[in-house]
Amino acid sequence: MFSQSASFQLSDTRSGVIMRAFASRMTRMHQQTKVLATDADDNPLLDEWGGPFGVPDFGRIKPDHFRPAFARAFAAHATEVASIGGNAAAPTFANTIAALEASGQALTRTVNVFNLLAGAHTNDAILAIERELAPIKSKHWDGILMDAALFDRIDCLYRMRDQLALSAEEQRVLERYHTKFTRAGAALDAAAKARLADINERLATLGTTFSQNVLADEQGYALVLDGEDDLAGLPDFVRAAARAAAEERGLAGKHAITTSRSSVEPFLQFSARRDLREKIFRAWTARGDDGGATDNKALIAEMVALRAERARMLGYPSFAHYRLDDTMAKTPQAVRGLLDRVWAPGRRRAMADRDALQGLVQAEGKNFALAPWDWRYYAEKLRKARCDIDEATIKPYLQLERIIEAAFYTATRLFGLTFERRDGVPVWHDDVRVWEVRDTAGRHRGLFFGDYFARTSKHSGAWMTKLRDQEKLRGDIHPLVVNVMNFSKSDQDEPTLLSFDDAKTLFHEFGHALHGLLSDVTYPIIAGTSVLKDWSELPSQLFEQWLQRPEILRRFARHYRTGEPIPEDQLRRLLAARTFNQGQATVEYVASALIDLEIHFQPVAGEAFDIDNFERTALARIGMPDEIVMRHRPIHFQHLFAGDGYAAAYYSYLWSEVLDADAFAAFEEGGDIFDAGVAKKLRDHVYAAGGSRDPAELYTAFRRRLPTPDGLLKRRGLNEDAA
Ligand SMILES: [Zn+2]
Repeated sequence: MFSQSASFQLSDTRSGVIMRAFASRMTRMHQQTKVLATDADDNPLLDEWGGPFGVPDFGRIKPDHFRPAFARAFAAHATEVASIGGNAAAPTFANTIAALEASGQALTRTVNVFNLLAGAHTNDAILAIERELAPIKSKHWDGILMDAALFDRIDCLYRMRDQLALSAEEQRVLERYHTKFTRAGAALDAAAKARLADINERLATLGTTFSQNVLADEQGYALVLDGEDDLAGLPDFVRAAARAAAEERGLAGKHAITTSRSSVEPFLQFSARRDLREKIFRAWTARGDDGGATDNKALIAEMVALRAERARMLGYPSFAHYRLDDTMAKTPQAVRGLLDRVWAPGRRRAMADRDALQGLVQAEGKNFALAPWDWRYYAEKLRKARCDIDEATIKPYLQLERIIEAAFYTATRLFGLTFERRDGVPVWHDDVRVWEVRDTAGRHRGLFFGDYFARTSKHSGAWMTKLRDQEKLRGDIHPLVVNVMNFSKSDQDEPTLLSFDDAKTLFHEFGHALHGLLSDVTYPIIAGTSVLKDWSELPSQLFEQWLQRPEILRRFARHYRTGEPIPEDQLRRLLAARTFNQGQATVEYVASALIDLEIHFQPVAGEAFDIDNFERTALARIGMPDEIVMRHRPIHFQHLFAGDGYAAAYYSYLWSEVLDADAFAAFEEGGDIFDAGVAKKLRDHVYAAGGSRDPAELYTAFRRRLPTPDGLLKRRGLNEDAA
């Protein structure tokens, strides 16, 4: 029943409706669910999903169906849980933990389909329900997690866990329940529980508003390019994407640049118009910061204070301490240690690159000081000069279709999975494709949905989500796994071409998808991607490594017109260029992670938290270069504030990179990136294992030791002996 709490995996900016599993009382919850109720006849959400492979019938689902479906699902779940808590029989694993795991089926189904649509294909009606739902969900889960009778049973089982003859997986599941309930405040007194419930409800509303403000700013702005002058420097693929973006906004025949990353970044990289670069850059970095109705500053102040209060009530000095206690890193000090270790060499490299970029400005006979909106433009020139490679010559070799094939091929070589296109499975938009996944023995493993193209109904970023988790508790249940991306769709008959970064994003999210598809556990609470936060990016970031190998690129990077493989010298230069500009990439990421930690390290007192001032001061303290901005400024940092998914946990990507660099070395050391023995261990202890054991134990089972950051520094070209 708790599997939905980790419903999103982000590689970029999307958080969305994450089920916040904390805090209220069951009685209030029942009153609240009535608010949602409206008439329900012929509601496809109320039935078991009847489509092929048990997929929901998206064609029949209308926004109006969600209110009655949620009302029924919340009520049904509350009744089930009340009967578990009120059971007169002494607690056993079966009548308490397993019973909880099997409960809430209708709610899980409704939440999963709603979350998918709210992220990938939203509209005004869904946005309204999303706002309404956030506090109600929060109360519902609080009612359960703070239920004293229920916690007594869990606590009793936990205390006698060594005498229960549980399997290792069951032990872990019991531990996870105990931890979740304790961290939600189950052991607090009634007054404290009531306050926690209020805090959580308020946080849920604020998180939804935060996310919707960012979406509104993204939808509400486009830089319209008029005539050839405005297009100066833009290669064909950027123009084509800009034409498509304009057309989607009803500006057929024009070109538009939007504030989604996939639109802004190529423009900044290629546009010769410094004034337009500045314009779009300012709009992009000001999302959530316009002082008007969609401004997020007050929301952040309130959220930070509420999180700090919650942490103190639960016995932690700060929200960061609270958050990190249930991660692989364990403490803010451990996180700080890693970030500091990487920050100094990253910054050093960035400053050296800045000098080189400023040199290019001067060489053009111009005398302005390099600004943040100039960085990518001159970096692209420097890359051409240093690595003799440019994005525009690589791109024709990176067709979306071939990169999808490459991801499937890699999964086949490593794990024996095969993928077969399935038409006739219901989907939520015509662009969505479906594949059936089978294992080596040809047995059905699940479905994989790919939703690749940007559209205005979709939140920006890229993420993995699911319609159903793997489990064996209620029979052999196969997962339905979804990848959502925001690639710019090509015009008409041309194939969609990707940047190398886009291709890496596809592999990244597909790595999360494999974590869901290969999951092989009994209990939903530990299935697939339901793992500790700083372990969750290992399967995704590790999978990116295969894309960056000649064995894969030679086979799949083929010119979209001629079918010729990418020339060997270009391939060599492309891979050699991987350490290029890593100073800037490291600085923009680590700065975001450090600020995240600092924000949530504050034992915030009563006074209002001034995020503007805090951001400026904190950046000055770490010596942030003027020419680089954070990858995500706090004001639109959805990882932190659209729900608390990555709050005090943005470091997780770097933590996982330590793991994945070290893990990929296990293949490299043997000289075979598809080594069957290493792949089997990787599958058993990482991709199939979900959260069935502590991450440090899983990693040690795979590698026979814990990782060191050396591989990460070397990969980024930041190690001492790198030039
Ligand atoms: Zn990810």
